Amino acid sequence: MPAALVTGSSRGIGRAIAERFARDGYDVAVNYVSSAQKARAVAESIQRETDSEAVAVRADVGDPDDAADLVEATVEAFGDLSHVVNNAGIDQHVHTEDLSPEDFDRVMDTNVNGAFNVTKAALPHLKESAASEKADADSAPTPSVTNVSSILAYTGAPIECHYAASKAGLLGLTKSHAGDFAPEIRVNAIAPGHVETDMTADRTEEEAKSEMEKIPLDRFGQPADIAEAAAYLRDAGFVTGETLNVNGGELMR
Ligand code: NAP
Repeated sequence: MPAALVTGSSRGIGRAIAERFARDGYDVAVNYVSSAQKARAVAESIQRETDSEAVAVRADVGDPDDAADLVEATVEAFGDLSHVVNNAGIDQHVHTEDLSPEDFDRVMDTNVNGAFNVTKAALPHLKESAASEKADADSAPTPSVTNVSSILAYTGAPIECHYAASKAGLLGLTKSHAGDFAPEIRVNAIAPGHVETDMTADRTEEEAKSEMEKIPLDRFGQPADIAEAAAYLRDAGFVTGETLNVNGGELMR
């Protein structure tokens, strides 16, 4: 069975992607940095409810050594790595005048450096998977990397400039790697709008109402909406260097 690594899949969007990939027939490495119990519960429910295998692996993706160990643990567990979803991310609401250089770096380290670290470590394995799939033309789609960016990469965000900068950085990383790794490996991004997870749970009623007014489809996104996009990009054999905007139409306005 081919295998996938989904970073930051102990909860939220990453969890939905890991579960979706498992239902679609992939063994999955469930990565976390601090929520060990939640990650183990995700891996256990995948094993219970699907035919796929799952392992929970702790790694801080911002640390290159941790990222390399995470990739090795995935390959050791499953003997394959065909798809990577760089989903792990952190956010912080603070105005620039109160934002410390350390906090700026912390967000960049996780959100951009993390995707770079994991992709770099995964590259030899993705190439290996591409070579073995070429030998077996009827097998799964070509290997892929999908980076989870954000609508804020385009719009910016007054109280989270480091987050917006990190998500814009991911779009540059995506296009660069798409050109670099073609034709063997496809690299794409997803730019979600507002999705209901822990990351957005601190919005006041007033903030949520004003955000909702910007969404033509009249609802916030759910993790499964982003998992649907991740499954599409995993399987879309002629798509690379693209960003799939999943935001209920918010960018139209
Ligand atoms: P979430 O519920 O806060 O979950 C974040 C996940 O990332 C958790 O699994 C967390 O692990 C993991 N993580 C954080 N730092 C990490 C690190 N250094 N190394 C490894 N894993 C780490 O967030 P979410 O809303 O699902 O967001 C997932 C992704 O979508 C993020 O990249 C986010 O920026 C992006 N996004 C979200 C929204 C939204 O509206 N929710 C919109 C646009 C983009 P632990 O549980 O161990 O802490």
